[in-house]
Amino acid sequence: MFLPRGARIFNKLVDFLRKQYIRYGFEEVITPTIYKKSLWAKSGHLANYSDDMYSVTGNPKSAATGEHACCSGDEKDPNHEEEDGEYGLKPMNCPGHCVIFASKARSYRDLPIRYADFSPLHRNEISGALSGLTRVRRFHQDDGHIFCRPSQVEEEIKRTLEFVKVVYTVLRLGVSYRLALSTRPKDHYIGTDEEWQRAEDALRRALDTSGMDWSVNEGDGAFYGPKIDIILKDSDGKEHQTATVQLDFQLPKRFELEYQAPAPEYEARGETTDDPALLADYGPVRPVMIHRAVLGSVERLMALLIENYNGKWPFWLNPRQAIILTVNTSDPVIEWAEQARNVIIGNNSQAYEDILAGKLPSADHPLRPTGLGVDVDISARSLGLKIREARNSGYGHILVVGDEDVKHKQVSLGKERMSPAEMRDKMVNMVDTFQ
Ligand SMILES: [Zn+2]
Repeated sequence: MFLPRGARIFNKLVDFLRKQYIRYGFEEVITPTIYKKSLWAKSGHLANYSDDMYSVTGNPKSAATGEHACCSGDEKDPNHEEEDGEYGLKPMNCPGHCVIFASKARSYRDLPIRYADFSPLHRNEISGALSGLTRVRRFHQDDGHIFCRPSQVEEEIKRTLEFVKVVYTVLRLGVSYRLALSTRPKDHYIGTDEEWQRAEDALRRALDTSGMDWSVNEGDGAFYGPKIDIILKDSDGKEHQTATVQLDFQLPKRFELEYQAPAPEYEARGETTDDPALLADYGPVRPVMIHRAVLGSVERLMALLIENYNGKWPFWLNPRQAIILTVNTSDPVIEWAEQARNVIIGNNSQAYEDILAGKLPSADHPLRPTGLGVDVDISARSLGLKIREARNSGYGHILVVGDEDVKHKQVSLGKERMSPAEMRDKMVNMVDTFQ
């Protein structure tokens, strides 16, 4: 359970990632939490991952009296079997994204297609493996899947590593992570040696151009493809795997994903040809699937940030961005403190009055909440005590209003005086520059 302050941080992290999707070309999708067992059979999860999955049983009663029963009148209605059957709570988003990719015909011109998904995921971890926020049974990933042409793999990996660098630099984790390439397992793997070699070479080239130090975990790749792990060191020096970039030869085959391209045999090897006869021949090619997460588990990353910042949150992520303290409890001072707060958080009463009167808000009174977290302390205690308490609670900005501020329609921040609107713009700027 995240309390209100925790939920603020969680949402700010997710919003931050969502904004980066504009630059990195991801489209967000929304997918179910529960899927039929048949989907998990197709994806291979039932055979390889069922111990870590929660199963969900349909209600047999509703199947007997449900809407299908009344209109079909057929006891062998296949829908009955479905409703009676077993479902699985999703531990990963990949199969759902494969279903979306396969939902229509794709051309090489459509690729790369990049889907992002913040869905909750459930994994039935044994209780001994659970640990604080770093290992939980229900969590969220900034999950994404890239479906691309074989010739696009290297560029997509490069862009993903750049994305990781941007996010970790903004989060001030830039110096504390390393990259590790996991290569083909000795035995038990799918795909040809040639496919693996090509994929690993593309990953190596992307790692080299990343300008970061990287190492190899020989034979440590998943059976379905090589991967790059981003490993973060916490404040105690303990390492945690956070971001991951994973190539997958398996799921595109299982879900029979394909796109149409000229000279399909060349296309499948990531090569090009000028031969007009070959180019005239279109055919299906399997896309490469890349799983990637930048934060990884949002919950786990939050745990690492909590340790790392040690109570000193940067302003943009701080769940206590500002507090307005009143010098006394006179009506004008309390009222002005509330007014100033409304301006800073963008709570525009006039806009709501317009809407309630059946009109849309005017340009002078737009509905524009700033998303800033601002509290007010109007308690009848000494200012010195209120300031000390606010400091100890970790507020980013401690604003003060007294009789003089009411008169001049201003708020005080240390020795600075400014209007609430100026204060709002200053804070919004700090958020936009990740201070
Ligand atoms: Zn995936």
